[in-house]
Amino acid sequence: MLTPHLRHPDEDQPTAVKGCATCTHLDRFRQRASAAGDGSAVSDANVRMRRHQKAEHSS
Ligand SMILES: [Zn+2]
Repeated sequence: MLTPHLRHPDEDQPTAVKGCATCTHLDRFRQRASAAGDGSAVSDANVRMRRHQKAEHSS
């Protein structure tokens, strides 16, 4: 679980798409950042994942 105080309550947390290497990479990065208490890196990972998913996974 992510630590609640690291998250903006209204911030979207994009979900990694199964089988996608980029999503998996960003998801791991986000989990590591969260475990390290690095909230800005968590936000960065979310931004990058959203941007990637909009480009690669929009249907
Ligand atoms: Zn992806």
